[in-house]
Amino acid sequence: MNRFEKERVEMAELLRQRGIRNESLLKAMMNVEREQFVLPAFMNRAYDDSALPIAHGQTISQPYTVAFQTEQLRVGKDSKILEIGTGSGYQAAVLAEMGCRVFTIERLMELHLEARKLLEKLGYHVAARCGDGTIGWKEYAPYDGIIVTAAAPDVPQPLLEQLADGGRLVIPVGNLDAQSIRVITRVGERFESQDAEGFKFVPLIGKEGWKQR
Ligand code: SAM
Repeated sequence: MNRFEKERVEMAELLRQRGIRNESLLKAMMNVEREQFVLPAFMNRAYDDSALPIAHGQTISQPYTVAFQTEQLRVGKDSKILEIGTGSGYQAAVLAEMGCRVFTIERLMELHLEARKLLEKLGYHVAARCGDGTIGWKEYAPYDGIIVTAAAPDVPQPLLEQLADGGRLVIPVGNLDAQSIRVITRVGERFESQDAEGFKFVPLIGKEGWKQR
């Protein structure tokens, strides 16, 4: 077992201790090479349970946050998932590793291109595009799950509309300093929601998000 494999097993153990129960998710996180998704200068810290910087002042979310959000999606094999905020591509890789059909949108062209190249190189089949994810990706809707990995001031209406019946939207909502992760389940034309507090994300910028200053 090389150093990073050992660190992946330890990371999964820590996630278990923090309450993550979904074994197929833990297995996926033990398989995805997180060290490939961080900047070379941070490779040594790839398995720390903390967010790390990526290009353009953005971040790769901390492993616990990735695990928490993914667990809340309740994905099955073949679930069709839309991710808003591709960033490094790590979250998309975890979902693909779990057998999901993944669609991901990133607003910054350079991050989009880098992530798409890396996901291809590692053999993950993910549909990626550059654009404003706050309006979703209507062409492929409805989705069994939508995961937003940047902080929104409110829940974007187009994302609710693009959820399948029984589907779940997992989205950080709050002000720019702190957010709750809101989990919204579609039941016919109704939406049920619950919040988990204590998270911090970079802002979701777009038509239905924060406005760029
Ligand atoms: N999921 C990413 C990963 O695994 O590395 C972490 C993403 S980072 C916390 C949030 C990302 O959301 C940033 O790359 C940011 O540029 C992007 N973002 C912000 N607003 C967006 C929008 N309206 N549409 C798409 N991406 C957006």
